[in-house]
Amino acid sequence: MGKSNGKEKRARELFAKEVQEEKANKGWEYNRNLLETSLDSLITIGPDGIITDVNSATEKATGLPREKIIGTCFSEYFTDPEKARAGYKQVFDVGKVVDYELYLKHINGSSIPVLYNASVYKDNEGQIIGVFAAARDISAIKKHENELIDFENNLESIVQQKTAELIITNKELAFQTGEKADRAAELIIADKELAFQTGEKADRAAELVIADKELAFQTGEKADRAAELVIANRELIHQNVEKDKRAAELIIANKELVFQNEEKEKRAAELDATIAAVPDGLLINGPSEEIVHMNEAAVRLFGSTAEPSRSPMAERVAIGQFETPDGRPMPRDEFPPYRALRGETVVAEVFVFRSPAFPAQRWLSISSAPIRGNDGSLLGAVTVLRDTTDLHKLLEEREDMVRMVSHDLRSPLTVVQGQAQVIERVLKRSNQDPRLQRSAETIVTSTKRMNAMIQDLVDMAQVESRQLDLKCAPMEMRAFLLDLRQRLAGVLDTQRIRVEMPEESPLVSADPDRLERVFTNLLSNALKYSPPETEVVVTAEIQHGEVTVSVTDSGAGIAREELSHLFERFYRAKGTRKAEGLGLGLYITKMLVEAMGGRIWVESEVGKGSTFSFALPTRADC
Ligand code: ADP
Repeated sequence: MGKSNGKEKRARELFAKEVQEEKANKGWEYNRNLLETSLDSLITIGPDGIITDVNSATEKATGLPREKIIGTCFSEYFTDPEKARAGYKQVFDVGKVVDYELYLKHINGSSIPVLYNASVYKDNEGQIIGVFAAARDISAIKKHENELIDFENNLESIVQQKTAELIITNKELAFQTGEKADRAAELIIADKELAFQTGEKADRAAELVIADKELAFQTGEKADRAAELVIANRELIHQNVEKDKRAAELIIANKELVFQNEEKEKRAAELDATIAAVPDGLLINGPSEEIVHMNEAAVRLFGSTAEPSRSPMAERVAIGQFETPDGRPMPRDEFPPYRALRGETVVAEVFVFRSPAFPAQRWLSISSAPIRGNDGSLLGAVTVLRDTTDLHKLLEEREDMVRMVSHDLRSPLTVVQGQAQVIERVLKRSNQDPRLQRSAETIVTSTKRMNAMIQDLVDMAQVESRQLDLKCAPMEMRAFLLDLRQRLAGVLDTQRIRVEMPEESPLVSADPDRLERVFTNLLSNALKYSPPETEVVVTAEIQHGEVTVSVTDSGAGIAREELSHLFERFYRAKGTRKAEGLGLGLYITKMLVEAMGGRIWVESEVGKGSTFSFALPTRADC
């Protein structure tokens, strides 16, 4: 079995080898056919660059038969032999080249572009024995490529040109756009400017109109001013002349002023001397009650120890104590200088002043008045203090005398009058000698007249001492007068008295005794100083809160120059001096009317008669 198996094996191996060789021969032929039918130029090159084989496509491409090509140098067939050499060396170095471009030369002098793809091939041991290179004719591609390149170049140049143009255009456009924007902005600004200018123009136009008017006005004004200037100039000339005059006058006025100042100083010195010499005390107060001046007499009155001027009045007043005549202490505010500083004028008010400076009380008649500036403002007060202590003593003495007269003289007179009336009645009853009867009548009349005169003196003393002690009551004038007329029937010729008063008249406040005295005086005068056959008419009028009573006679009347003296003490009119009376009746009447808050006056015409009127306030307190 072994021997037969070895033979069989070898036979199978030989057969296999033969099959293998047959197969290999058949493959080589097949491959050769493939190579020959290839359109691409195929070349094999040895390591020395010598061509070892080519196909028919290579023959066609070079125009040479393969016998001439094989054994020649590969690089000789290309337009750029160096590049061709570098190509096949690269294949030997790195094993292959892909799309290696070369230009294959034809023997007719032309050349075609080819792309070589080459790789090494090896023997069974793996040794590199050569390069197999396949070249593809890329003339058409190249042509297209060149055309493409041309086209591209062309396009590129067009693009570049267009781009350049575009850039320029773009720049131009951008520039123009910028310009446009600028123009637009400028237009907007210009528009605004235009609008503004239009507004400005309108304003200017309006201003021009105003300016025009103003100009017209100013022209008018100018003309006016010019005219005024002419006038002003004349005025100036006139004023200059006047100024010179004034200057001259001023010089005179200045001299006059100097003179007046000297005079003033003289007057002031005189005044000071006068004030100092005045026997009455003189006190001048500033607005804040401070004493600014006191004369010697005032200093003596208030004591000479303190500084006479610029001292508070309260200090001075405090030295002594003031009382009213009825013994009440005088409140500080009632001190006349204080009242004057409140704007009141005080006239001759009597006060009792007690001071350690005098052993006995002093009677002072004080008058005070406010001092006012030209504008009416209160600057102070001036007070005159008259020491009436001596006068007061005299008045007291007179009062004593009047008391004595009224009592001591009246008592025997009353006795005389009473006895004379008795004698008169006896003589009448026994129808005695008429001469004796007349004598008795005369004694009675004279005693009555003397009584009346004594009564006048007593009344005068009383009214002057202001100790009237009025007892006022509401009175109806007409009823009062009619009653009085009845009561006076035996004393006066009341038949002649006619009362013409309204039935009802307002009440007046009056002291009945004093009112009776007023009526008696006026009626007796009217009857006394008018013819017996004439009437005396009494009327009453109510107006302005007063009842005015008038007693009118148809007598001789009173001369105008005497009218103002009628109410003076002891005054008797010229034509009536022979008639009985002391000239005290009207004086006392006036004092009584005024004490009751009323007033009295007279109207008279010589040859026609007189009207004595007095007015009393209705229901006023007295
Ligand atoms: P008498 O007591 O002297 O009358 P009167 O004071 O009553 O004093 O009067 C003063 C003077 O006024 C009188 O003397 C008189 O001359 C004058 N007299 C007063 N009343 C009248 C009158 N009715 N008519 C004219 N004279 C008058």
